[in-house]
Parts: sequence; structure tokens; C-alpha cells
Amino acid sequence: MATKREAIIRDEIRALAAYHVPDSSGMVKLDAMENPYDLPADVRRKIAELVANAQINRYPDAAASALKARLRETLDLPQESELILGNGSDEIIQMLMMATAKPGAKVLSVEPTFVMFRMIASYCRMDYVSVPLQADFSLDAERMLLAIAEHRPALVFIAYPNNPTGNLFDADTIARIVRAAPGLVVVDEAYHAFAGRTFMNRLGEFDNLVVMRTLSKSGLAGLRLGLLAGARDWLAEIDKVRLPYNVGVLTQLVAEEALQHRSLLDEQAAAIRAERTRLSDELRGTRGTTVYPSDANFILFRIAGAPRVFAALKARGVLVKNLHGSHPALDGCLRVTVGTPGENDRFLAALRESLTLN
Ligand code: PMP
Repeated sequence: MATKREAIIRDEIRALAAYHVPDSSGMVKLDAMENPYDLPADVRRKIAELVANAQINRYPDAAASALKARLRETLDLPQESELILGNGSDEIIQMLMMATAKPGAKVLSVEPTFVMFRMIASYCRMDYVSVPLQADFSLDAERMLLAIAEHRPALVFIAYPNNPTGNLFDADTIARIVRAAPGLVVVDEAYHAFAGRTFMNRLGEFDNLVVMRTLSKSGLAGLRLGLLAGARDWLAEIDKVRLPYNVGVLTQLVAEEALQHRSLLDEQAAAIRAERTRLSDELRGTRGTTVYPSDANFILFRIAGAPRVFAALKARGVLVKNLHGSHPALDGCLRVTVGTPGENDRFLAALRESLTLN
């Protein structure tokens, strides 16, 4: 008799829909907040040489010391903070939850926000509580503080800027949340390169604050490298659930080299910010759209007939993210990642075409 999956697989896992990654081959890919720019040929040649000489027969440096030193230098991390590296910041979210998932322990965040907070909480059997954002997607300070008092969460996640809304929350409200929280508050700065605001330089002010970053939005999504910065005694505990050698030889070598070209990555981020302004303005001028302000490398907008517009864009070779149906506050919303000027033009042209078909 075949083993019954229902008897073996946990109920909450069977109830999940797997994180869906659509096929994007041949498309203008504006769905996943990637940086659209290549590194210049000389840097890529240097990387090719490093890869050719890499000792892939050996395990990587488990402490990733050279890469951590480079990250400290180039990302202006506070010297007194400890660092943990992950296979993307997704893995760091998982480590934080695995280390804190006592029976009944809770994770608190806002909604809508990055879906992996809820998903990973479920993988780790943590209860997930979310407080709705206000209509303009700002934090509801009073409801957050009430929820903290009621639920006493082990972890609070705040994406700063938030995905998928794109905005930065009020810094004083976040500070109040950190002071009120009985556990760790994780400020997730995945979109830091486009925001210019940070809690990294405020780590010393709070003993329960940790700050997460990723290189994914800065041109290195394929490497999978995220980091957590915070107080040594907290991070020493989290580090115990990190799998040995979680950051591979090639990721360590290539990230270390790419970070040497920090000014290049900064120029790319500046180009993306400039295009964000242009794209927002163009979208605002498009009939029937509401465009939300963005401090990230994507723009959330509401448009009549969003699912149909999404399909029409796709039929014209442009892939964005359809958020309609994912949360009531996102009804009629699409999210477009800021691409190169040419990609953005193709998106705008396809959008106009799909609207004239209306
Ligand atoms: N945090 C936020 C807010 C995100 O939007 C994302 C990616 N979409 C991540 C974390 C995960 O990034 P990565 O695992 O690529 O570092």
C-alpha cells in the first residue's frame, strides 16, 4: 500500500502553495527587483580568472573571513557589530526563525509585506501575526504597539523599504517598536541601495535590533548573499543554526571581487533611482493609474483591469508582478521593477498598447 502523503507531510506544509517563479525566458524581466545592468567586461574577465583558479575541490572558508572584512569595509558596517552571512537573506530569515521557534513563539510583521516572512514562519512552526498597514501603506503605530503587547512576539520583521509597497516607514515609529518589543526586531534593508536611509548606524542604540541586507538588488542576485548585522551575543546564538559552509567558494570569491567595484554598483543604483523617477512620472501620466511613492527599485501602481493589463503586458514580452488577489489592500495592483531606460520604454509602450485595447 502506498504511504499516504497526508499522514507524513505536515498539514501546514500541505496547505502551502510553493513560491511560484514564472518562466521568464525571452521576456523583459521586470518582476523580481533584479538590477538590470551587467558588470563591465574587465571586471567579468577578472571574475572568470578567479573562478578558473578557485579551489572547488575544497569546502569554502566556513567563517568567510575575507568576504566579511570586505563587506565591513564597503558597506560601512559598524565595527563593533557581528555579521552572519546567508545564502540570500531568505536563509537568514530562516536561521532567525529556527533559533527562536519555541513552541508557541510568534513572529509579528505588517501586511502587505514580503511573503517569505509568513512562509518561513510556517516552515518553522511559528505563529505569524500581521498588522495591516494604513491606507497609504504607512505603519499603524498604535496597532503595532498593541499587537506587541498582546502577542509578545519573539521576532518582529520590518522591511525598510517595504516590499511590495516600496515605501520607507517612519523611523521614529520603528524606534518605538524596537523599544516596545520583548524580542528581536529585524529591520530588513533589502532595498537599502535605493533608499538612502538605514538603521545600521543605530545598532548601538538598541540591544534587540538586528539589520539585514542583501546583495541581490545590487547586481548580484545570482550569487545569493545576504547578511545580518547586530550584537555579538545575539548573533552567536543565531549562528549555531547556520549550516556549515552555507556560502560557497564561488559566491565568496565573486562577491569579494565585485565589492571592490563599489563605485560601479553605486553608479548603477543611482541610474536605477533616476529611472525610478522617470518611470513614476510616466506612470502617473497614464490614464487610470494610481502610483505609490517608492524608495526601492520597483514601483507599485494600481490600474483598472490589472489582471488583464498584466496578461497584455506578458503577451507583449514584458513580465511584471501581478499582485491583484494576493491581499485585499493590493487589489488592482501591479509591481514593476525599474529596468534599464530601454526596458522601461518597452514596458511603457506595452502598457499604452494594452490600454488602448480597452
Ligand atoms: N527581504 C525583502 C524585503 C525582499 O523583498 C527580498 C527579495 N524579494 C528578500 C528579503 C530576499 O532577498 P534575497 O534572499 O535574495 O537576499
